[in-house]
Amino acid sequence: MDRGRRFWGWGFEDAGLTPADDAALAARIAPYLAVAETPTAPPTPEEIHLAPSRLTPPAAIAPWCDLDDVARAGHTYGKSFRDVLRALERRWERPPDVVASPPDEAGVVAVLDWAGDAGAIVIPYGGGSSVVGGVEAPTDDDRPVISLDLHRLDRVLEVDVDSRAALIQGGVFGPSLEAQLRPHGLTLRHFPQSFEVSSLGGWIATRSGGHFATLHTHIDEFVESIRAVTPVGVTESRRLPGSGAGPSPDRLLLGSEGILGVITAAWLRLQDRPTFRASAVARFSTFEGGARAARALGQCGLWPTNCRLLDAGEALVTGAGSHHLLLLGFESADHPVEHWLARAVELARDFGGVVDAHEDGALDATATWRSAFLRAPYVRDSLVRFGLINETFETAITWDRFETFVGSVRHATETALRDVGAWPGIVTCRLTHVYPDGAAPYFTVLAAGAGSGRLEQWAAVKAAAMDAIESNGGTVTHHHAVGRDHRPGYDRERSDLFAAQLRAAKGVVDPAALLNPGVLVDPRGRGRQRDERRGN
Ligand SMILES: Cc1cc2nc3c(=O)[nH]c(=O)nc-3n(C[C@H](O)[C@H](O)[C@H](O)COP(=O)(O)OP(=O)(O)OC[C@H]3O[C@@H](n4cnc5c(N)ncnc54)[C@H](O)[C@@H]3O)c2cc1C
Repeated sequence: MDRGRRFWGWGFEDAGLTPADDAALAARIAPYLAVAETPTAPPTPEEIHLAPSRLTPPAAIAPWCDLDDVARAGHTYGKSFRDVLRALERRWERPPDVVASPPDEAGVVAVLDWAGDAGAIVIPYGGGSSVVGGVEAPTDDDRPVISLDLHRLDRVLEVDVDSRAALIQGGVFGPSLEAQLRPHGLTLRHFPQSFEVSSLGGWIATRSGGHFATLHTHIDEFVESIRAVTPVGVTESRRLPGSGAGPSPDRLLLGSEGILGVITAAWLRLQDRPTFRASAVARFSTFEGGARAARALGQCGLWPTNCRLLDAGEALVTGAGSHHLLLLGFESADHPVEHWLARAVELARDFGGVVDAHEDGALDATATWRSAFLRAPYVRDSLVRFGLINETFETAITWDRFETFVGSVRHATETALRDVGAWPGIVTCRLTHVYPDGAAPYFTVLAAGAGSGRLEQWAAVKAAAMDAIESNGGTVTHHHAVGRDHRPGYDRERSDLFAAQLRAAKGVVDPAALLNPGVLVDPRGRGRQRDERRGN
């Protein structure tokens, strides 16, 4: 585990909330929700005592294999509410037996070879920021577990300035990636909220969503080619600006969540660093009004960089204001963008938006929301320590169903919170990404936990929310991925025939089901038997 990273929660030891910040946070929340008088203390390294590892790494790779209890605990979970709560409760349910951090691609090959010989499973681990159980070991497979931590594959290997593309190793985290591109005047400009502690390989494996609210929102758009190590060999696609030659091999690895290979490097399309920027904030009296404006903006061809609609609850909680707010932003490395912003503002006004002429107001609200956005994971961990439930979930829905959709999901979530006794609570919504044909609503839940049992309470609330999403036509995930948590919904969302195709692809590259078994498809033929019973 990197020095300074928290092994039990989000981020770095030297960042986040101080005890004074914690106290101020509790005081701010206390009038609305019952907060514990004393926050649960995070676990200390001295408290971690795991069952002994069942694996002994061979001498050739032993120098970069860690059997230490704290490293193993730190690689047991991702970073969801459920993960942080289990860590705070000192529950390390299925820790890896070994954390292997190879220095290069040959080391990745060596780990997969060893895993095959040792009958172990391998969980690729980038930043470990999964919020869907993506880096967690399966509970129904008792093979030893190797967490394959890729953080040492952290270099930009080659920059092709003419094509504005770079070959980048899969384990690099966001800040280091951008720092290496900066001297070339280039940027990937892919900024998921987890940017600080998530990796390029993880973004590709989960089809992450970045800060562009329209147009190039997913990492998919930036991937030119991918190189991956599988248990039976290395696969690499060709660099091409576009190709109509059959199904895209990159599309198979994008979103493969570690089951089809370990992404060791990829060529990414880059951009010039933007120098022109303009932003505005439109206030709306209803969320629906703001959404209609967002829809018009998604369909008019202006492609704003930022087009995030916050409901009034989200604006209030993040300190950005007290109305429903549409944050608008444009940027370019080539030309002034005020003209585009002016047209976007006109559109927002057409739908009842009130836009202050005063530019500073826009900057204030955007900056306030942005800094709250980046601090949110640390705040979440503190709120969990104070006994609250705080979690997010996201989806996407076409515009034709949008208005009833958000209301139904919000209602189902609030009802479930009441039913499990986790009330009072607040369910907020924002649109993170806007498409011509729909949008990605993102919900945040903050609620009083009802005594002990917050894990069970949240499981019931999440299940109700996912049911509402599914029955109202949304997707199980827009950008948080499937992992182990969303598997049931994903199984229903895709066709059985596609599941069989995916399983066949996995069978070719990973015949012994070493890689992340149970994520996306069932391991060792269990799913195949189930599909055969269904007649596929
Ligand atoms: C606070 C917070 C904010 C977040 N914000 C966003 C957001 O804005 N947008 C978004 O899309 N997601 C977001 N996420 C979710 C998460 O950050 C993304 O899924 C991210 O892409 C995961 O990257 P990672 O390197 O941390 O991968 P990990 O969590 O380490 O792994 C995720 C999955 O990918 C696999 N994997 C990882 N690396 C590789 C590799 N090199 N080769 C093959 N498989 C691999 C793992 O086995 C696992 O299945 C957020 C999470 C948190 C905690």
